[in-house]
Amino acid sequence: MDHKEEIVIIGGGMGGLCFAAALHRVGLKAVVLEQSDRLRAEGTSITLWTNAMKALELLDIADQLRNTYVNVLGPHEMRCVERKVLLEALAAQIPKGTIRLNSQVTSIKKSETSPNFTDLELQDGSTYSAKVVVGFDGVNSIVGSWLGLKKPNSVGQLEIRGMAEFPNAHNFSNLFRIFYGNQVVIGFNSMTPTKVFWLLIWTDWSEGWRNTTPEQIKLEALEHAKDFQVPELQLCINNTALEHFTKNTIRQRINEKSNCDQVVGNVTVCGDASHPTTPSLGQGGCMALEDGIILARKLHQTFKSKESQISEVPEHERIHQTLLDFHQERYPRTNALTRKAAMVGSSVTSNTFIKRFLRDWFFIPRGVHAGNYMEDTLFDVGNLKVTN
Ligand SMILES: Cc1cc2nc3c(=O)[nH]c(=O)nc-3n(C[C@H](O)[C@H](O)[C@H](O)COP(=O)(O)OP(=O)(O)OC[C@H]3O[C@@H](n4cnc5c(N)ncnc54)[C@H](O)[C@@H]3O)c2cc1C
Repeated sequence: MDHKEEIVIIGGGMGGLCFAAALHRVGLKAVVLEQSDRLRAEGTSITLWTNAMKALELLDIADQLRNTYVNVLGPHEMRCVERKVLLEALAAQIPKGTIRLNSQVTSIKKSETSPNFTDLELQDGSTYSAKVVVGFDGVNSIVGSWLGLKKPNSVGQLEIRGMAEFPNAHNFSNLFRIFYGNQVVIGFNSMTPTKVFWLLIWTDWSEGWRNTTPEQIKLEALEHAKDFQVPELQLCINNTALEHFTKNTIRQRINEKSNCDQVVGNVTVCGDASHPTTPSLGQGGCMALEDGIILARKLHQTFKSKESQISEVPEHERIHQTLLDFHQERYPRTNALTRKAAMVGSSVTSNTFIKRFLRDWFFIPRGVHAGNYMEDTLFDVGNLKVTN
């Protein structure tokens, strides 16, 4: 093997980088293997709620974001931040050399030469052997496939989102404005005094749009916007640079079993690879950050606590148990949020008069108002180290 490591994280997205930064804080060494040639910032912007900001506080990043991005909700936190800024802030908390770009993992197998290690092969032929492998590798997770997890399904919705820029400041309020139409929903909110986030979601099962150019995405967005008498949306679309349009198929997987299928030996998945969720609650990324902090705390206990130093249980068994415990703890929360996001997501693009009536007069006002969202977003990830 070219490299022998304690912990290898596959995927340098927001979850993988948060996990690496958290491990570093608790004194554990890890490397991050990221397939891209740079930190990926696809999606332009992401909404971070109180739970995510609590996780980022532990890494000393929250205030930096608070200084730049407005709070959309008032007493609780909801900030729409640029992904690039978030990823760079996380990467700045990780020692140099930890993130290995251009490192696409192409195969995973149990080591034949070092029992209890897992071997990874990269596309360039280099190899890694690790005591712990954590796949933070997103919805198309190679680690998930190796564990035997099902691929996430399309929910029959496409989304276009963008970040509009107004160099001389905009006059959008700090509220998140959302409008429901016939199988289409639109929304926008201020990010900074000069930037506005906007989105469009509609019912569409087509998968063959991958080669669509940014110009075509912009035209498509303008076409959908015509269904609404909301001039702010048109303004946003027209003030969005082509590189700031993104289009996505919305996917999810509702996990049925609590833990065993997410852990084999000392290999597991976290973030979207573990619980791919529709973006309707804006919680997928927030949960990936929670995962990173909680797993780092658990591994710190496993490797560094006094009990671990005197334990007679072999280290690989303790690691395995830690990964199982992690999923046991996380499952109720991630599963409930994935289910809730699926329900909210499917209702917003309702396709019949009766469904729209129920949505607009009962479901949205009573069930999906900010107060209800708040409950889940107030989750406190706790400290990085166990204090007792
Ligand atoms: C349209 C849309 C809007 C969203 N809005 C929000 C929102 O407002 N708020 C929110 O909290 N969440 C939101 N989400 C969800 C959020 O984007 C994800 O939950 C979050 O990015 C998950 O982080 P992650 O690190 O697990 O995975 P990712 O961010 O997907 O990162 C995975 C990384 O793994 C790398 N990788 C993959 N395979 C390999 C491999 N074989 N070898 C090496 N590297 C590999 C990828 O290149 C990537 O960098 C949204 C999602 C979508 C699709």
